[in-house]
Amino acid sequence: MAQYDVVIIGGGPGGYNAAIRAGQLGLKVAVVEGRETLGGVCLNVGCMPSKALLHASELYEAAAGGEFAKLGIEVKPKLNLAQMMDQKTESVTALTKGIEFLFKKNKVEWVKGWGRIDGHTPEGLGKVVVKAADGVETTLEAKDIIVATGSEPTPLPGVAVDGKRIVDSTGALSLSEVPGHLVIIGAGVIGLELGSVWRRLGAEVTVVEFLDRICPGMDEETAKTFQRSLTKQGFKFQLGQKVTAAKASASGVEITMEPVKGGEAQTLAANYVLVAIGRRPFTQGLGLETVGIVPDKRGVISNDHFKTGVGGVWVVGDVTSGPMLAHKAEDEGVACIELIAGKAGHVNYDLIPAVIYTAPEVATVGQTEEELKAAGVAYKVGKFPFTANSRAKINHEGEGFVKVLADAKTDRILGVHMIGPNVGDMIAEYCVAMEFSASSEDVARTCHPHPTRSEALRQAAMGVEGWTMQA
Ligand code: FAD
Ligand code: NAD
Repeated sequence: MAQYDVVIIGGGPGGYNAAIRAGQLGLKVAVVEGRETLGGVCLNVGCMPSKALLHASELYEAAAGGEFAKLGIEVKPKLNLAQMMDQKTESVTALTKGIEFLFKKNKVEWVKGWGRIDGHTPEGLGKVVVKAADGVETTLEAKDIIVATGSEPTPLPGVAVDGKRIVDSTGALSLSEVPGHLVIIGAGVIGLELGSVWRRLGAEVTVVEFLDRICPGMDEETAKTFQRSLTKQGFKFQLGQKVTAAKASASGVEITMEPVKGGEAQTLAANYVLVAIGRRPFTQGLGLETVGIVPDKRGVISNDHFKTGVGGVWVVGDVTSGPMLAHKAEDEGVACIELIAGKAGHVNYDLIPAVIYTAPEVATVGQTEEELKAAGVAYKVGKFPFTANSRAKINHEGEGFVKVLADAKTDRILGVHMIGPNVGDMIAEYCVAMEFSASSEDVARTCHPHPTRSEALRQAAMGVEGWTMQA
């Protein structure tokens, strides 16, 4: 019987980061992964392929839409969709191979196949049975098991994903043609990122959303500015609509929807439909019942530092509660292993940034104005528009703003919400500042390089005390 200190089920960002950290700390560790490649949803069908297409389609639109010509670069681009998909696949393969390399370097064993927990041995070790592709089963025993099985798309009753005309995010990353009309159900992160890809390549895009706003949970002013920007780009929004049926044929799909508040149903014809109404924890066939764990809607719940309440069984990533983000899963994986190794592992859930990689990008960390108002916290606002930032202006990317929310009494930064160029990278400055409990004045008095878009971050902080210089 193969015995380990730790067996991790799932080789995504939660699982592979936990495994590498375990190797570094000298633990004997195995990762059970059923996919043909490591890296989970993020590397294979999530973060990375979507960013490859966002990057390529942004350049295509800059060339095709006249932005290059404005800069004096005259080109007549021709879309080679097959090549665009190939370069995406090549990049993904390089990344998943990179995880294999890191496993070897850190003495992590990859046990290929689908794993299920199978109770405990009489000595109290956890048992994981792994079924390989050829049907052969192997049993692993471990002092500790980490469940890192991730998530899957939430299905929408009445709209069956067939992988042809009605797709989920995985299908929308690999369409073989640019849709004439793409209807997206759900105005969240996936819908707006992948909608951007296909709109830039020439599709008409309509987003149908149940609520009367896009991106629920996002700072409202930022979400409204974002929706205005997407509308200017050509996105059409049908808010407050409930899709009740979708009828697919060989050439397209007919969607039936009705206003959430009541009213007449209407139909919408699409060439393709993307269903992106959220994701749900993946626990199918995992054998949790053999150790007495009952998952709920939020997945396998931990009320205490990744512990499930069952000795020796831990949980990290999308399969447990909290935001379904790769960096949250990574941080949990590392902290969980550090706790298993007797060290101090910790994740600060108040400071998990979120980014939407559209153009302009949207980036947020900490509390929104709506949350601060609801909690009765007195706060001050500093805001700076990118139109007043010299670098953004010279690059013709003046859309958006940086907004800093600081405690009215202590000046401690409580939330930062940005929409604009490169804000997905720049939000990290505020993550570090807030992790060190910085005041807005700390950022306002920190020298920033000129001319950079990062100066907008400083100017917004200066705005909290009303001494913005450049706007
Ligand atoms: P996963 O990545 O889902 O990995 C779980 C792994 O476990 C899978 O490989 C699965 O095959 C395996 N597994 C499951 N059950 C078993 C079993 N019984 N036995 C063996 N193996 C098993 N997040 C961001 O932060 N930034 C982004 O830009 C971003 N973009 C995204 C774009 C898209 C289109 C999608 C769908 C998601 C995106 N996400 C993004 C979310 C991100 O992918 C997830 O938050 C992240 O992958 C979660 O990591 P995880 O390790 O918890 O689970
Ligand atoms: P989401 O939660 O971001 O958005 C889903 C949207 O669908 C919401 O606006 C919701 O109100 C709407 N909706 C729900 N039910 C509906 C219905 N019946 N009809 C119409 N609209 C409905 O979910 P997503 O976009 O599917 O993304 C899933 C997860 O993947 C998210 O948790 C996200 O964090 C992660 N992700 C992250 C990134 C990133 O970090 N850049 C990119 C892609 C995905």
